[in-house]
Amino acid sequence: SSTAPAMAEAAMAARVPPDEDGDECLPQYRHLLSPDLLQGQVAFITGGGSGIGFRIAEIFMRHGCRTVIASRNLQRVAEASKKLVAATGQQCLPLCIDVRQPQTIAAAVDEALQQFQRIDILINGAAGNFLCPASALSFNAFKTVMDIDTLGTFNTSKVLFEKYFRDHGGVIVNITATLSYRGQALQVHAGAAKAAIDAMTRHLAVEWGPNNIRVNSLAPGPISGTEGFRRLGGKFAEKSNQFSVIPLQRAGNKTEIAHSALYLASPLSSYVTGTTLVVDGGSWLTSPNSFSALLDVWAAGANQ
Ligand code: NAP
Repeated sequence: SSTAPAMAEAAMAARVPPDEDGDECLPQYRHLLSPDLLQGQVAFITGGGSGIGFRIAEIFMRHGCRTVIASRNLQRVAEASKKLVAATGQQCLPLCIDVRQPQTIAAAVDEALQQFQRIDILINGAAGNFLCPASALSFNAFKTVMDIDTLGTFNTSKVLFEKYFRDHGGVIVNITATLSYRGQALQVHAGAAKAAIDAMTRHLAVEWGPNNIRVNSLAPGPISGTEGFRRLGGKFAEKSNQFSVIPLQRAGNKTEIAHSALYLASPLSSYVTGTTLVVDGGSWLTSPNSFSALLDVWAAGANQ
């Protein structure tokens, strides 16, 4: 649109890296860090075909990294891979996995190692989420989110450990959330699942540190242009001016999350392990935890 250049200019002035709303690559990119920061490395990114995971793949590739993007929908990752290769000139291997099924992860990791001979970075980004009050949440819905987020993160980390990281070292970045910090309404499933992942981050950092494996969590706040944002009442929060109470007065964007992932995945954070990097503009400190307003969003079907 005609306002896009003006918006990009405003973003630049505020030192916010510009972003694209859909699952498209950035039309232009200005490196803040050396373009060869991840040269020669390979990243395995679950959930890399969409949203935050897609942008992480793009930013890593713009820093010399080759990627494997893996999720259930092969067509989705295949299309994403074409866009990523076209925009960055790096290699990207799209693979089909369900993080709930370790044998599918093992097959994908074997294929990735066959293609690239190495994997240096694992981004655990696959997740499922929706708004639902605990009183209306089915036993199965709670279990499904725990299965994908928590067990999926363990499954993928363990397969990577056994097949490569144990002997070669590596870096794991788990994408979590701040939902549990204040008991976010309508989020008992995802909050519990992500809190368990933050615990796993510390346990695995302790056990796998001697193998030269760093394990950290990255906890985004509300990130525009994502499925999470659309499903979890982001538009509602935008309309009702809720972002003005965030210390940085706005939602974040996918490029900002990808930059933080780049820090955690690169040697810039070589002495950082077992921690959670919160990337939320200060949001969880000040945002209202409005049970009744979120119930309205849920009842209006904004979570569908
Ligand atoms: P998204 O685009 O829906 O990303 C989720 C990805 O996970 C999809 O690519 C999906 O692909 C994949 N996935 C789901 N179930 C899977 C399974 N069983 N096995 C393998 N892959 C699976 O959402 P997003 O908003 O960008 O979220 C990305 C990450 O950031 C998530 O971990 C989310 O919890 C976290 N986060 C997001 C926000 C936000 O504001 N958006 C805030 C805090 C945290 P398939 O459907 O093809 O499997």
